[in-house]
Amino acid sequence: MDTAMPATSALVLFSGGQDSTVCLAWALDKYERVETVGFNYGQRHSAELGQRDRLRAALREMKPEWDERLSSDHMLDLTELGRLSETALTRDAEIEITAAGLPSTFVPGRNLLFFTYAAALGYRRGIRTLVGGMCETDFSGYPDCRNDTLQTLAKAIALGTDTPVTIETPLMWIDKAGTWDLTNKLGGKPLVELVVEESHTCYLGIRSRRHEWGYGCGHCPACDLRRKGWESWRAQNGYAP
Ligand code: ZN
Repeated sequence: MDTAMPATSALVLFSGGQDSTVCLAWALDKYERVETVGFNYGQRHSAELGQRDRLRAALREMKPEWDERLSSDHMLDLTELGRLSETALTRDAEIEITAAGLPSTFVPGRNLLFFTYAAALGYRRGIRTLVGGMCETDFSGYPDCRNDTLQTLAKAIALGTDTPVTIETPLMWIDKAGTWDLTNKLGGKPLVELVVEESHTCYLGIRSRRHEWGYGCGHCPACDLRRKGWESWRAQNGYAP
């Protein structure tokens, strides 16, 4: 049964990473009811997913209206996607960073599947707005992060479900420094500190090494981006941790 909800609800693709955490805060500022969805696809480490509950709880405590608005969390099991990725790696099980700057575990079209699953879940929950942290500004390597890709997908999903569907990507046109800036605008120092402390970015799942910008190996492309964005944002606005 399709129980209609107000058009002011949103479903956020929430992995527990930096970008999706900022997107969740963004959605909590904007929509009256916000649900989250995470995907388990047999990631090599669960560092990111493991942070989801902590982040959700902390966001709830940050502002009374965020507490009111943050609603159900859903986890979808997409382990088949992990197996596809494994298949591509039979020659060498080590994670490598390819010339394109992508980890060799990259699953082609992953975000297309994520949004399609999210849309199916949203349909059932009466939510027509899907929110994701994709960005094409400083990481053009992922073709399924591109605005054209996602807006075309939104049209296809709308046609395929005969329901209007909107895909919102608040980070699409800003770089990582801009993401830190948005974090500060949305929740000030408490939110910046939460993102530093609890959101996870590192490809290798390292949470034993703490840097000024958060936990991670400090060397992989994801750590690199996070650090550079942090340094550039701090240089611009003089934020003192
Ligand atoms: Zn790393």
